[in-house]
Amino acid sequence: MTYLADPTRYDAAAFRRTGRSGLLLPAISLGLWHNFGDDKPLETQRAILRRAVDRGVTHIDLANNYGPPYGSAESNFGTIYAQDLRPYRDELVLSTKAGYDMWPGPYGQGGGSRKYLLASLDQSLARMGVEYVDIFYSHRYDPDTPLEETMGALDTAVRSGKALYAGISSYSGERTREAVAILRDLGTPLLIHQPSYSMLNRWIEEDLLDVLGEEGVGCIAFSPLAQGMLTNKYLDGIPEGSRAAQDKSLSPDLLTEQALRHVRALNDMAAARGQSLAQMALAWALRDERVTSVLIGASSVEQLDDSLGALDRLSFDDEELKRIDEHAVD
Ligand code: NDP
Repeated sequence: MTYLADPTRYDAAAFRRTGRSGLLLPAISLGLWHNFGDDKPLETQRAILRRAVDRGVTHIDLANNYGPPYGSAESNFGTIYAQDLRPYRDELVLSTKAGYDMWPGPYGQGGGSRKYLLASLDQSLARMGVEYVDIFYSHRYDPDTPLEETMGALDTAVRSGKALYAGISSYSGERTREAVAILRDLGTPLLIHQPSYSMLNRWIEEDLLDVLGEEGVGCIAFSPLAQGMLTNKYLDGIPEGSRAAQDKSLSPDLLTEQALRHVRALNDMAAARGQSLAQMALAWALRDERVTSVLIGASSVEQLDDSLGALDRLSFDDEELKRIDEHAVD
């Protein structure tokens, strides 16, 4: 059946400015790293994407290697986009990245060369079936490629019209400052940085957020639920079909008794606030206005709905923050 987006989709949606740019992003964005490869039913993927759009989630994040297999998340997105979302292209912010190994031979092994980045972007556009992405990222810093070359490739992507904005992911504060300066000289300002950030992973508070705030660069935090650890999912063991059960990127070794003690305490605090733990963890990651958006994953519509419920209660008082700090540790 032809998809028609919910006419009320923006009524309860929340948008935040990306650094000092003109671009607004939803406070909660959807990433397709897991759950959108060929190992998951296309109908589940479609239901999650439709629901996201219906609830005003305008930003969808991809990368060349999301799957499995590599490339399949972009291809599956492309299939759903062609069937459902094409009429809404101007309401969507689509991003992709290149930085990890992708295809055989020396030019597809990842890193930051101009050769790899620009070829990869062309491949991503073909898989997604779009003429341009809104944001093209260098997925990781490559110590073997001059930063001028990597940033020059992002600048070319923007000037060629294949991307509207440039982004970087997981660069340290120091490298971010260098990247900002190079891109500014080239006339293509750095729009956004995509780092990991959650209650269990707070490195950006020490190394990165000040740089982003000073330079006017946005921040979109990935894995804000620590891949599911900061939800009620693992409180009573490891459910079948969960990420930890599949031992993909979330090792069950991380679910130690000590870690779970903290998660249980956080879960109790969330309940006292009238929220799920996922909702409190997302609200917490958004408490600093320099964080433009949090980038969640979801394996079902129910998870997506639960997580979007975070927007109903974003504020914390000092006492709550202090108590969360006791359990929100690296
Ligand atoms: P999250 O921390 O949001 O983890 C998502 C997982 O948590 C889901 O797959 C699900 O696990 C579980 N979950 C989500 N919501 C709920 C809920 N409400 N209740 C219970 N469980 C829930 O983020 P991801 O690690 O998936 O990363 C999000 C996005 O960030 C990626 O899709 C990608 O776009 C980006 N990313 C970028 C990286 C980079 O290098 N730039 C690296 C990693 C991610 P389950 O599947 O077990 O049900």
